[in-house]
Amino acid sequence: SAPPKYLTGDPAAINEFIDKFDTFLFDCDGVLWSGDHIFEGVPETIALLRSKGKRTVFVTNNSTKSRQEYLKKLTGLGIPSEVDDIFGSSYSAAIYVSRILKLPEGKNKVYIIGETGIEKELESEGIPYIGGTDPTYRRDITPEDFKALADGSLLDDDVGIVLCGLDFHINYLKLAVGMHYLKRGALFLATNTDSTLPMHHDFFLGAGSVHVPLIYASGQQPLALGKPSQAMMDAVEGKFQLDRARTCMIGDRLNTDIKFGVEGKLGGTLHVATGVNQKADWEKEDPIAIPSFYADKLSDLRLGA
Ligand code: PLP
Ligand code: CA
Repeated sequence: SAPPKYLTGDPAAINEFIDKFDTFLFDCDGVLWSGDHIFEGVPETIALLRSKGKRTVFVTNNSTKSRQEYLKKLTGLGIPSEVDDIFGSSYSAAIYVSRILKLPEGKNKVYIIGETGIEKELESEGIPYIGGTDPTYRRDITPEDFKALADGSLLDDDVGIVLCGLDFHINYLKLAVGMHYLKRGALFLATNTDSTLPMHHDFFLGAGSVHVPLIYASGQQPLALGKPSQAMMDAVEGKFQLDRARTCMIGDRLNTDIKFGVEGKLGGTLHVATGVNQKADWEKEDPIAIPSFYADKLSDLRLGA
């Protein structure tokens, strides 16, 4: 495919870029901010796009926060928004469970490996769950647990789904419980498969790395519902009535954001170099995905004011 069009420092190219789209889907970490540090000029860039009548939607793979919690973060960092502007991987998983899978009562309970973001989004869809932040599962495994897992007495017959996101309290007991549900035929879902989690200018284990033991032990692959899953794209399209040709995905990561937009056949994808990947990553031979536009940073778009 054609090499990406450079936008940085080129007002004409920036204006042409902005005119091409009605909706911009923003990845969050690595595009808008890094951790709790908002990048300079980002609130002004979002405000500029909105003043031109563009719709701005925030699409994050971070499963640890619910949309409500993300709303607080966006607003607190100077990007006033509404909960319906936000589409997180936990929400994506929750609506997949409630509106697509629609398992019958008595088979629709979710066993969560993850944090409150998943719990809150399942709650808002009326889906029952266990695990998650419940201290019952956040402890060392005992000899009695091994027995109770083997004879099934530690397992809830209503569980039909194992849903994995990033869990900062992952332990042997939680994984063993998950593995036993999978062995009994539960569906294997993941909020996202990000291998790494950028924090403090370094990398830590992402959600994808944390659920690898379950893949290995069960021999099954999860269906992931965050970027680049097209189940998420379909849900985003349905919710926002997207015209894909007039929609652009903006992201820092090739194997999630840019792949998400390319496979979703959006009108464009914009890679910015303020996060995980640099332009060298798509310049090399056989890149994971090639964006259609490139800018050093999001606030470079302000030149199109
Ligand atoms: N997962 C977790 C737990 C995170 O904290 C983050 C970034 O903060 C991500 C995933 C990646 O999020 P995004 O898709 O907004 O880059
Ligand atoms: Ca990102």
